[in-house]
Amino acid sequence: MKKNTQPTKRLPVFAALYAACACGLFALVFFVLYMLLHAENETFRVVLTVLGVAAVFTAALFLLGLFAMTVSSRRGRPPGTLRRFLLRRMFALYPAAIALGRVFGISKSDAQGSYVDMNNRLVRSLKSSLSGGDIAVLAPHCLQKNTCNLRVTQDVANCAGCGDCDIAALKQLCEKLGAHLVVVTGGTLARNHVKAVRPKAIVAVACERDLSSGIMDVFPIPSLGVKNERPEGPCVNTRVDVAAVEDAICFFLRGRA
Ligand code: SF4
Repeated sequence: MKKNTQPTKRLPVFAALYAACACGLFALVFFVLYMLLHAENETFRVVLTVLGVAAVFTAALFLLGLFAMTVSSRRGRPPGTLRRFLLRRMFALYPAAIALGRVFGISKSDAQGSYVDMNNRLVRSLKSSLSGGDIAVLAPHCLQKNTCNLRVTQDVANCAGCGDCDIAALKQLCEKLGAHLVVVTGGTLARNHVKAVRPKAIVAVACERDLSSGIMDVFPIPSLGVKNERPEGPCVNTRVDVAAVEDAICFFLRGRA
């Protein structure tokens, strides 16, 4: 199998944001405890107790998530029961992590990219041995050359295969591996396609923003995100590393080996 050519340098960003959220929760727990010790009003004490219990419970979940992330980064494979848990915690944490990232000067796109990297890492720790027909490849419309008038969003078979954009190579790859390829114009069409085809795994090509929201939308279907390249700016004549898409499909076909 070819090596994954997608960069993973941003992998620790999301874990660091996650850790910062956990620290914030513990600070809240200590604040609540302090207030509780000094509060005299009975109703206020009840409110503080409820808030404190909720904060302790959430902080404990975050700690478990951090533990799983640490195991994942050291061994490349977190304990089985923690994988699904961690993916769910990542979704729950996503808005807070993005907001916190802004405070620390981490761009939204970097935080989203790190989230996608972490998702990919966790999904790649699963075992998989699907057939090509179980896998959907979702590609964005902006991959199509903007001078091409062929209606590939209706049916990718309409691509004449001229090679001016990466749709031709993706089409050829999916034909070779038996995966369903669809070119979508947005998240709603992608979701409709997933509902219609009901794939067992998804390989999605998009920008960081669309990948991060798409991964959450299709959960619990395992999905691998492949970031597109934007040499001419966002949403026009974008490109994709077709080898990285092949690597992702092959992972779902053959698993970790
Ligand atoms: S590869 Fe296909 S979609 Fe791309 S420009 Fe050529 S015919 Fe159009």
